[in-house]
Amino acid sequence: MEQHEHGRGVAPSGTAWASRKGDGAAQGVPAPTVGDVLRAIEELWPESLAEGWDAVGLVAGRSGNRAAKILFTVDPTAAVLDEALGWGATMIVSHHPLLLKPVSSVAASGFKGEAVHRLIEAGCALVTVHTNGDSAVGGVSDVLADALGLRDVKPLVPAADGLPEEGIGRVGDLEEPVALGAFAEVVFSILPAVAGGVRVAGDKDALVRRIAVCGGAGDSLFEHVRASHADVYVTADLRHHPASEVREAAAGGTPYLVDVSHFGSEWLWLTPAADALGTMLSDQGFATDIRVSGVNTDPWDFVLTPGH
Ligand SMILES: [Zn+2]
Repeated sequence: MEQHEHGRGVAPSGTAWASRKGDGAAQGVPAPTVGDVLRAIEELWPESLAEGWDAVGLVAGRSGNRAAKILFTVDPTAAVLDEALGWGATMIVSHHPLLLKPVSSVAASGFKGEAVHRLIEAGCALVTVHTNGDSAVGGVSDVLADALGLRDVKPLVPAADGLPEEGIGRVGDLEEPVALGAFAEVVFSILPAVAGGVRVAGDKDALVRRIAVCGGAGDSLFEHVRASHADVYVTADLRHHPASEVREAAAGGTPYLVDVSHFGSEWLWLTPAADALGTMLSDQGFATDIRVSGVNTDPWDFVLTPGH
């Protein structure tokens, strides 16, 4: 296990973050090509599971180039590129797309074009695993559900074209009911420490057991959360009106809301995802060196609160 100090490092509050190191320098064992890694990614997180609006897959890179050193990140920010290229990465697997919307220029005068230039000049490929990584078994919300100790976990919205275990969000039960305040402390402890912390709406002493989760922004799933009879919904980026309306409709009851960092809720997935890819490539006879970025890409730096 190693810590990487780059910019604002990720400082986990609970579960340790780990970088996975393969036996990259093993003599006589070939590194995979970018194309080999893309085939492994397709097996783990098929593009068919991505939402229609999403942009997943290879963003930059040649499929014939070698990809021995692979870095996983939530966001392909400039600080992550510094880290990746400083380490000599030949591929970055990013959860969020660098280019979600169509662009008419990748001139280096813009930060996205600059990122594309840096990647190409350094011979480093960039691939996006976004909503396909959310939906798959072992995806972002599955990892969150596991970290919270949920049982009998099912998708909140099953995938249209997938297995019954695939889809967006998850819902499951805690082994024993716990007070909402104690549950929120567990949520806080499993996520990386970020400026915004964890916000909760609901009665701190109420007992909760059924938990719905959605890594990233999940305010489009309220209807499914209600249908699941969840006591609590853990997600990110909850805005005033959707959150307020859910609480008004619940008249003080369930579902309670736990609003976490978008980055933090997805960062948990990086280590198991890196492990899954490393294991698959190693089973296929390839040597790789795979790491999880140590850069905290949460955009917030500090917060003022009345203090409680
Ligand atoms: Zn996200």
